[in-house]
Amino acid sequence: MKKNIAEVVNISNNVYEKGLVSGKAGNISTRHKSECGDIISITPTLKSLGDLKEEDVVLVDINGNILTKGKPSSEVNMHIEIYKNRNDVNAIVHTHSPYATGFAFSSKRIKRYEGFGTVNSKFLAYIDYEKPGTNKLAKKAAEGLSTENVLILKNHGVVCISDNLKEAESLALFVEETAKTQFITHMLNSSEDYI
Ligand SMILES: [Zn+2]
Repeated sequence: MKKNIAEVVNISNNVYEKGLVSGKAGNISTRHKSECGDIISITPTLKSLGDLKEEDVVLVDINGNILTKGKPSSEVNMHIEIYKNRNDVNAIVHTHSPYATGFAFSSKRIKRYEGFGTVNSKFLAYIDYEKPGTNKLAKKAAEGLSTENVLILKNHGVVCISDNLKEAESLALFVEETAKTQFITHMLNSSEDYI
């Protein structure tokens, strides 16, 4: 358990430093499978991921019961639903990274580049807007991630999942860089040619 908590802190600090989250936004968790049931280590609500400490990480069981002090992220239900739906997933990184979220707020979709695993479609998957922190969002996000490892939440942000936190973090970074490249391409294509 100690290792999982340390990893949540480490990845939280990383995503903050890399600009994938800011203020008190974003949430991260990892699942520990045990014979007594799954334990999820998740970031707390209303706390910056940039200066998270081990004692801030909250432990919950797969039914959402809080096992330690503190209050888990307001998106704890989304994390739980995703874990329930995907037995192969043990790590979730949710960000509002600026370029990817810019696409999420626009009518443009993010093209799927090589590096996103199996190419199922031309664009990254997305779900329509649901209010943050609601059960509706939790259910829809879990459904949207049934066969995907990246999901764009319309007018909200990005969710990346993997079997480990390091990989989920890399995916979040890759989504952001992909969105940034595509944003630059759109800008260049729409500007005048000065040559
Ligand atoms: Zn969010």
